[in-house]
Amino acid sequence: MRLNASSPIHVGMAMLWLFAQTAAGQGMNYPPVPVEMPVKRVSQSVYLVQGAAGIATDNAGFVSNAGFVVTGEGVVVFDALGTPPLAHRLVTEIRRITPEPIRHVVLSHFHADHAYGLQVFADLGAEIIASSGVREYLSSEIAGTRLAERRRSLAPWVDASTRLVMPHRFVESDYRFRLGDHDFLVTNHGSAHSEGDVTLYVEPDRVLFSGDILFEARIPFLGSANTRGWLQTLTKLEATDVRAMIPGHGPMSDHPKQTLSLTRRYLQYVRQEMGNAVADWVPFDEAYERVNWEDFMEYPAFLEANRRNAYAVYLSLEAESLR
Ligand SMILES: [Zn+2]
Repeated sequence: MRLNASSPIHVGMAMLWLFAQTAAGQGMNYPPVPVEMPVKRVSQSVYLVQGAAGIATDNAGFVSNAGFVVTGEGVVVFDALGTPPLAHRLVTEIRRITPEPIRHVVLSHFHADHAYGLQVFADLGAEIIASSGVREYLSSEIAGTRLAERRRSLAPWVDASTRLVMPHRFVESDYRFRLGDHDFLVTNHGSAHSEGDVTLYVEPDRVLFSGDILFEARIPFLGSANTRGWLQTLTKLEATDVRAMIPGHGPMSDHPKQTLSLTRRYLQYVRQEMGNAVADWVPFDEAYERVNWEDFMEYPAFLEANRRNAYAVYLSLEAESLR
């Protein structure tokens, strides 16, 4: 049976959900976070909260973005922010806009700044959807080490009650679902920025949540990235009809093609220059000094990220060439 929004059964079910979510939400007391969290409307049904620029421990941990979609039959959230109190605050902000239950949370990737708020949504009964790569990450030693580190560096926002949440659904490649009159496409791009990066495309709004695969108008952090896989992902995204793109950090982009092309140019350039150095057996320090970085020096995060990025790519290409 297909329920429509006006049917009494539907209304009854929605109220039951709401009651269940309110009760569950009261189970945990999270301290209020001393940050601004203005909600920006991106399209008819899509909203965004934008973290501050800075390192992971700045702004009470509110340094990444999260968004949500109000569908008429429930809310879909993208990313869970970096601490449970921040996620709790996000729920409060969602409640100012709609009483609809939070049904799904799509996680871009399991880095602490995007994932440590998950428990709040799991406790509300939302289904957590993530890349299949997250399963491996959660069973790795580094997951526990990271949590211990954040309990120190982000106290009291991350504390003994903060836990790593195992997602309910793992996406291998593409996963589509429909809620209200909206279509959602979750795509696992495999290893790009992390061990498993997921994007969410929302129709009919044509909004793309890109997670950390795309950085708007700044130099990306490559970290342990697989730059070859990342470039393939960008090619796929370029073929998508996107009206607005919401990155994992920084402002949303209403010119996604330009954003894509900056990330692409940067990745290609670093790979090309470091590739030449590796092929010619030039040591990293010397190679780095020789490269002309002029095209990228003006972008934010260049000073913080570029040398480390280049070094990571140098090492990965060296490993590739030895294989
Ligand atoms: Zn991030």
